[in-house]
Amino acid sequence: MRTAALALMMPLLFALGCAGLQNASATPVAPKPRLRVLGIAQDGGVPHAGCSCDTCTAAHDDPARRFHVASAAIIIPTGEGHRVYLIDATPDITEQLHMLRDVRDAPEGRTDRAPVDGVILTHAHMGHYTGLAHFGFESMHTQTTPVWCTERMGGFLRRFGPWSQLVDKQEIEPRTLTPGEPVDLGAGVTVTPILVPHRAEYTDTCAFVIRGPNTTVWYMPDCDPWGKWPTPIDEILAGEGTDIALLDATFYSLDELPGRSLSEIGHPPIVTTMDALQSMSDAGLDVRFIHLNHTNPALDPGSPEQREIERRGFAVAREGAEIGL
Ligand SMILES: [Zn+2]
Ligand SMILES: [Zn+2]
Ligand SMILES: [Zn+2]
Repeated sequence: MRTAALALMMPLLFALGCAGLQNASATPVAPKPRLRVLGIAQDGGVPHAGCSCDTCTAAHDDPARRFHVASAAIIIPTGEGHRVYLIDATPDITEQLHMLRDVRDAPEGRTDRAPVDGVILTHAHMGHYTGLAHFGFESMHTQTTPVWCTERMGGFLRRFGPWSQLVDKQEIEPRTLTPGEPVDLGAGVTVTPILVPHRAEYTDTCAFVIRGPNTTVWYMPDCDPWGKWPTPIDEILAGEGTDIALLDATFYSLDELPGRSLSEIGHPPIVTTMDALQSMSDAGLDVRFIHLNHTNPALDPGSPEQREIERRGFAVAREGAEIGL
């Protein structure tokens, strides 16, 4: 409970750090670099296309029960304003860019042709890069927006339409991420790509270690079950000095997938992740779940599954929440 309570309080504490203390003190507190959660759903989003399950029906009826596809923004204060880097370009990018309007110096009354300072991609599954289509000629028509991705992902974007047209028209500019090598975003924040096991039809898949002056975040929307990893996940997170881990939580348990065994599904269920990380969580690691499938009962804040997550000291990430870096 302690970790969950801290997780819920962090955006509040951070907001107080930026605003409340500024009012209470004669010395203004400079805004700090931070990560903002923009979505927590699996690639298909909530509601899911063509689905009439209770979760999707409720989401159609009540916009407050919708969830955007997993994404986050790294916000870097510059003195005059902010630089903003988007992790993944999802099918929900229109609304997710709107969730960043307070930190963008966007032109009033017309389309912003530089809506972000860069995009950092995990991999080429539909929820993670197809939002790039909005950078193209039919929509924002951006100008050389940097898109960081692995060499294999960059080759995929350069070779295959419609993505190759974005490159040819210089709407996006692929830049190569080298696994293990940090990219410096300024203000003491770096992003280091780590290759992780995940089905790789088109490209490899990255997790990101986002290291700020005070906090290290592990961001990983998609990965294989822990049994397929050569190194245990707790050792990896400890080795990176992780404070907060945002982890693939596509399914809560095998109950969502009748007739399937753990070896057949492509993601670590939340129950196995909690078992794998319980002692690290008890020792202070803040684990928040992202990339929840529409079938995942933990999406519902009142569900026994979400209560069990919180009882064990874990949390489901909240859209709009900020993590000070
Ligand atoms: Zn995904
Ligand atoms: Zn559904
Ligand atoms: Zn994927």
